[in-house]
Amino acid sequence: MLELHNVETFYGSIQVLFGITLTLDQGKVTTLIGRNGMGKTTTVNSIMGTVPPKSGEIRFNGENISGKPAHVVAQRGIGLVPEGRQIFPNLSVRENLIATAANFSKSSDSWDLDKVMEFFPTLKPRLGNMGNQLSGGEQQMLAIGRALMLNPGLLILDEATEGLAPLIRQEIWNRLQRLKQSGLTILLIDKNIDDLSKIADKHYIIAKGTVVWEGDSNALAAQPELKSKYLGI
Ligand code: ATP
Repeated sequence: MLELHNVETFYGSIQVLFGITLTLDQGKVTTLIGRNGMGKTTTVNSIMGTVPPKSGEIRFNGENISGKPAHVVAQRGIGLVPEGRQIFPNLSVRENLIATAANFSKSSDSWDLDKVMEFFPTLKPRLGNMGNQLSGGEQQMLAIGRALMLNPGLLILDEATEGLAPLIRQEIWNRLQRLKQSGLTILLIDKNIDDLSKIADKHYIIAKGTVVWEGDSNALAAQPELKSKYLGI
């Protein structure tokens, strides 16, 4: 569904990605893992078009989307739950959800306000609250709900459970599992390798702006040295 081939991305004159190549399969969960500062978010920024790559190719459903602006990438059907959640603080929960809503993937069973409330019942009594009146967990549910309201074909979560309490984290993992079961393709970034391993079909380890290893959860578990070498665990 999504293919990155030799993607090189810079911030000004500083090169951060040195030829990222990876493939996301339809209906599967793929992860990007690696220590801080290795280029995971920059890979996401390159896909979304917020930091366009200098070279390489990014194909989504066969179309070259490399360098296309973020709103066009979103229209093609990629929904992002960004690092730090980026909830609009002075919009209500309802407004946050409907402000950017669209059915970009032309789904027949599309996400709407009712469906998001059913999926995240915690948000229902908060519909009138402002974005800055929510707990971290509620904000993350809102950020996921907002991305789903775009009816994406691919959902990307950058730091899916960062800073959340264990119970809330578990709730987010359960919801992501349900989204996977519904057939959604998901790209996940998170620091909790054990939780990622339960849900993911394939992992890519990123170090210094390049893919240094790829494999499934069993292969990752079978090579504990990877964790100390590349993940600092
Ligand atoms: P983290 O988990 O800390 O976000 P990451 O793997 O997602 O780590 P990136 O955020 O992609 O890493 O950062 C990769 C490198 O690019 C780092 O060295 C970082 O300092 C640098 N970098 C990130 N954003 C910018 C920016 N806006 N301008 C300049 N350099 C940046």
